[in-house]
Amino acid sequence: MIDTTVFQDKTAVYYTLGCKLNFSETSTIGKTLREAGVRTARKGERADICVVNTCSVTEMADKKCRQAINKLVKQHPGAFVVVTGCYAQLKPDAVAKIDGVDVVLGAEQKNDLLQYLGDLHKHEAGEAHITTTKDIRLFVPSCSRGDRTRYFLKVQDGCDYYCSYCTIPFARGRSRNGTIASMVEQATQAAAEGGKEIVLAGVNIGDFGKTTGESFFDLVKALDQVEGIERYRISSIEPNLLTDEIIEFVAQSKRFMPHFHIPLQSGSDDVLKLMRRRYDTALFASKIEKIKQVMPHAFIGVDVIVGTRGETDEFFEDAYNFIAGLDVTQLHVFSYSERPGTQALKIEYVVSPEDKHKRSQRLLALSDEKTQAFYEQYIGNTMTALMEKSKEGTPMHGFTDNYIRVEIDGDDSLDNCLVDVKLIGFNDDRTSLKAEIVS
Ligand code: SF4
Repeated sequence: MIDTTVFQDKTAVYYTLGCKLNFSETSTIGKTLREAGVRTARKGERADICVVNTCSVTEMADKKCRQAINKLVKQHPGAFVVVTGCYAQLKPDAVAKIDGVDVVLGAEQKNDLLQYLGDLHKHEAGEAHITTTKDIRLFVPSCSRGDRTRYFLKVQDGCDYYCSYCTIPFARGRSRNGTIASMVEQATQAAAEGGKEIVLAGVNIGDFGKTTGESFFDLVKALDQVEGIERYRISSIEPNLLTDEIIEFVAQSKRFMPHFHIPLQSGSDDVLKLMRRRYDTALFASKIEKIKQVMPHAFIGVDVIVGTRGETDEFFEDAYNFIAGLDVTQLHVFSYSERPGTQALKIEYVVSPEDKHKRSQRLLALSDEKTQAFYEQYIGNTMTALMEKSKEGTPMHGFTDNYIRVEIDGDDSLDNCLVDVKLIGFNDDRTSLKAEIVS
């Protein structure tokens, strides 16, 4: 039993880097601490506990984690500092050496944070306590809203794919998941709290079911039955796991939105082979075609990595031309970053930082063209948008079923409301459509 009296009247700050999964897990950590009596510190208030949930997707991410920890240590002198997440899992010794850090916890320990905090007495500099597990197998459930309108339901964690450039299997462990029944229960709870939209999150969500003998398709069908949840979005799903039956189901479902996010990573078959991805461009193109055939209005976001080892000028041109010809809506462009311990380091051809930058700029420009062309088709239409809390000083915004970002005149009372809006035209920086509420 943990003695929670030590946590009474303590305050905490949370800092998250990285993906949706991390944000969702930080909210769950926050909930655990709140239940133990820890209040979230107000803006500017000095906290007793700092929790940093780190990311290690690139070298830059590692650097940002170190900077964030140093900043928090300075802002909250004397606070008990806990660092967890992918960077903590992969480089625990480096994290433990940072001045002010008390406890370093791996991926599996996130769930039991309380038991590692002891009596909150600070450790000597450089003597942080490290607890990580190499063979990560525990599935830590998480469904949270944080300060956003949408809920993020973690359905799966880890990955067994071992793509040549990726460290996620080392940082998050093997593919695993909770049961369909537990996911339905969490979605039902979210609906009872007033939640209207849930994003299904995971590292390789199409792989759902590995540890429970179930399937992602069965999960989708079960969640579709939960009363009160009006919208689901499937976050990133591997193209080889996005089956026709899932696409067809989404097309006829009222709750699963016509919105997909599919990692392509490269539009060159030669580079896909070097990356050890499990599909080729022909398969990817067939998935896009299938989606558009049954849902012509679907929003399709695509991840692309530029400058991977082995991506010659010629391969990049192949990739660019392939992507330019795809009927997709938005590109999420990442620059390749060398990660220690990955197979990609054995490939000799290295892309210069200048070339990576140029390639990334070309794809970002292509992405803008595609997104704007997609948005333009809907100007003049009336659609339903779920409104979200806006940041101070920014217009109220929301998203249509097919993920068009709309801005309206309105206030936070519309947060989490489904509103019929008429789409008028682009906003000033052409990142959203201005819209008017239709009475
Ligand atoms: S499928 Fe995704 S998470 Fe898994 S190894 Fe490949 S890139 Fe990494």
